[in-house]
Amino acid sequence: MKKVKVIGAGLAGSEAALQLAKRGINVDLYEMRPKVETGAHKTEYFAEFVCSNSLGSYDITNASGLLKHEMEILGSELMPVIMQSQVPAGGALAIDRELFSKTVTEKINNNPYINVIREEVTEIDLSVPTIIASGPLTSDALSESIKSLLGEDYLHFFDAIAPIIEKDSIDFEKAFYQNRYNKGNADYINCPMSKEEYGKFYNILINAPKIELKTFEKNAKFFESCLPIEVLASRGVDTLRFGPLKPVGLIDERTGQENYAVVQLRQDNKAASLYNLVGFQTNLKWGSQKELIHSIPGLENANIVRYGVMHRNTFINSPKLLSPTLQLKKCHNIFFAGQITGTEGYTESIASGLYTGINMAKYVNNEDLLELPQETVLGALTHYITFEGHTSFQPINSNWGILAEMEMDKKNRKNKKLKNELLANRALEIVKNIK
Ligand SMILES: Cc1cc2nc3c(=O)[nH]c(=O)nc-3n(C[C@H](O)[C@H](O)[C@H](O)COP(=O)(O)OP(=O)(O)OC[C@H]3O[C@@H](n4cnc5c(N)ncnc54)[C@H](O)[C@@H]3O)c2cc1C
Repeated sequence: MKKVKVIGAGLAGSEAALQLAKRGINVDLYEMRPKVETGAHKTEYFAEFVCSNSLGSYDITNASGLLKHEMEILGSELMPVIMQSQVPAGGALAIDRELFSKTVTEKINNNPYINVIREEVTEIDLSVPTIIASGPLTSDALSESIKSLLGEDYLHFFDAIAPIIEKDSIDFEKAFYQNRYNKGNADYINCPMSKEEYGKFYNILINAPKIELKTFEKNAKFFESCLPIEVLASRGVDTLRFGPLKPVGLIDERTGQENYAVVQLRQDNKAASLYNLVGFQTNLKWGSQKELIHSIPGLENANIVRYGVMHRNTFINSPKLLSPTLQLKKCHNIFFAGQITGTEGYTESIASGLYTGINMAKYVNNEDLLELPQETVLGALTHYITFEGHTSFQPINSNWGILAEMEMDKKNRKNKKLKNELLANRALEIVKNIK
């Protein structure tokens, strides 16, 4: 009898378990709540939304919206429950989180192929086909076990991450390419600031509201070399000018002058369509981050594809460890799904559970596994987290910058809505043809 173990009945694990059950495969689904708490989950239901109740857009001209359509075509089991649990939220897809989680829990509890075991898993048994979907708040004992399986280097913890923006939205009348002291190629994009501009930026920063930390995170220690920008700013008005915003060695050739402060942006993906703000890890509320970033000369219209966030987050070094099928390279019995793989967000976690569930079913049935191309959002996300060329791997959510380029004329490329529609139609066509 074919049997698979799924660790964690969160967003990814619930979707994966239902995908396996749909294909007639028996599942032992382990969930440690309510016996062991994560510090963020509030209920004992499966697939709980821990923070906001929004899944973002459902529009195909938005990358996250397109991902949802791809998931529906691929037969997601959680998407119909999401649609049934919807609450009005303007252009966003938001849900009644309790109704959603209760419905998913009932669906799983009533499924004859799924055996629910309310226990904490503390060891990985390599001989059993297993999907590890224990999330960003994986229990300490399981973290230790994963660490010993993957090696010390391969389980990362971090506190704060910096925002990422789309290069196409930068104003190059103001920004310029250059490396500090002109070393190497001009890899960095620099946004120069006058004294007045820096003063305005600093005021927004020190007055900006921060996200209240959960109790379990309040005692979190920051790495001194990776302090949130608001913590640095609180140490004095010039601390940032001697830190991440230092202007030395960055002469704007158009003026021949050194500036008062400079915000640097570093390439974030191979296609050079995404850039992260260097040293900008932050825990500011997203509205304040937007106001702050838009106050930087050259970034007034920046399109922010990932905001800075701070919480305990466990993710593995997927580019080194996982194949594009989300299988552990060194042990094909073990798959990873959800946020632990380095994809970020509710939709992305469910999508990854869907993909892993489909692939685990194929694996136990000795069939060829599914690999989605980079023309689709799900394929592009999977490629991003398993591609080995990252200088520093950090989690990512759906965005257009990671999709494969598409030939189109200049006029279409400039019309953002039209460009996204073309990319979306290409992706949907591919997904519809998957057998
Ligand atoms: C505090 C916080 C806030 C977030 N807010 C948002 C947000 O607003 N919007 C957004 O899009 N994303 C948000 N995320 C990111 C992410 O989308 C969610 O964490 C999402 O739930 C991840 O899905 P998952 O399936 O990977 O993990 P989870 O949904 O967390 O599921 C993992 C499950 O595994 C269980 N588990 C852990 N260890 C064990 C073990 N040893 N044995 C058995 N079971 C175990 C857990 O109890 C949990 O039920 C947030 C993350 C955190 C930590």
